Amino acid sequence: MSSLEKKYPYVEVDLKKLRHNIDAVVNICKEQGISIAGVVKGFNGIPETLPLYQESGCTSIASSRLEHIEDARNLGLEGPFMLIRIPMLSEVPDLVRLADISLNSEVEVLRAINEECKKQGKTHKVILMADLGDLREGFWDVDDLVNAAVLVEKELDHLILEGIGTNLGCYGSIVATPEKMEELIQRAEAIEKAIGRQLNIISGGGTTSFPLVINRTMPERINHLRMGEGIALGKDLADLWGLDMSFLHKDVFTLRAQIIEIKDKPSYPVGEIFVDCFGNKGVYEDRGIRRRAILGIGKVDFCLDSQLEPRLPGVEVLGSSSDHLIVDIQDCKEELKVGDILEFDLRYSTMVFLTGSRYVRLEIKQ
Ligand SMILES: *Cc1c(COP(=O)(O)O)cnc(C)c1O
Repeated sequence: MSSLEKKYPYVEVDLKKLRHNIDAVVNICKEQGISIAGVVKGFNGIPETLPLYQESGCTSIASSRLEHIEDARNLGLEGPFMLIRIPMLSEVPDLVRLADISLNSEVEVLRAINEECKKQGKTHKVILMADLGDLREGFWDVDDLVNAAVLVEKELDHLILEGIGTNLGCYGSIVATPEKMEELIQRAEAIEKAIGRQLNIISGGGTTSFPLVINRTMPERINHLRMGEGIALGKDLADLWGLDMSFLHKDVFTLRAQIIEIKDKPSYPVGEIFVDCFGNKGVYEDRGIRRRAILGIGKVDFCLDSQLEPRLPGVEVLGSSSDHLIVDIQDCKEELKVGDILEFDLRYSTMVFLTGSRYVRLEIKQ
């Protein structure tokens, strides 16, 4: 912790609004027989948010990072806790100690988890991942998938085969369609045939699979989703997918940053143009002399300035460097001055970077 007294920049997290969003998503899914793992990695597992996921109807608290699960344990939360990045061999002991269930795609890792469970006198549930074309994690070959399932079921006696899952819309930008979900169900049924019983969980993906719930086109056997962004922000579903997400608060997270300079300047750089401070070729439009403000926050904190959305009408993000954010305020009706505070909505990338920056305070609104 730093002893600096400066207040800005900070991110405010409104816990009441977050709880509303968790409940809204859980309830819509429940109506369709789908349970929810509440994913907290998108805001670095802010500890104050974790009890909300525990108290709500989420059937587990999930993250890609064991640190968040450890925080939740330290808060005395009971879980169950799910690790949703397939485990590193080096984190298997911590996985078994901290998490109840994990997503997996490597037989070598499954064997290691089983051995570790023996040492710790525990059992661990696993969901096997199937890659349906997004080309991130998961078994590609169906026989490999079924063989791994049989191995877990019949030989790895400290592991419980809980189900099967997939992930879409992450690396390969593949859309979750009813057809993709049917492919997942087919793989589940191949496993069920081989092990002679039904699987408990068929996990259809993350937020990018939620449109099928909203549109009521999710095949019946999909009974689980792992939702992060769609609960915390709901922005992508509204803006990119054109869904009516009015039942969610879009302002659970608010960034507040302070203005450190206001001046009228040319909009087009003056001199010989080369590359910016990150080695990129900038794009600049000559709109004549414009009124601009600089805020005391930068790429180090949010990474992508295009994913910051000013709330005040007439404020437009122009660009940023490591420690400065430049906005056009020419068309803003309010008389802004140095020291004023501007508010921004976040999107996934700005949420994940800002909540992880040591230079950005967090303020929890109860
Ligand atoms: C991040 C992640 C999720 C949640 O993604 P959102 O888009 O935030 O809902 C679900 N499953 C896996 C495997 C993930 O890595």
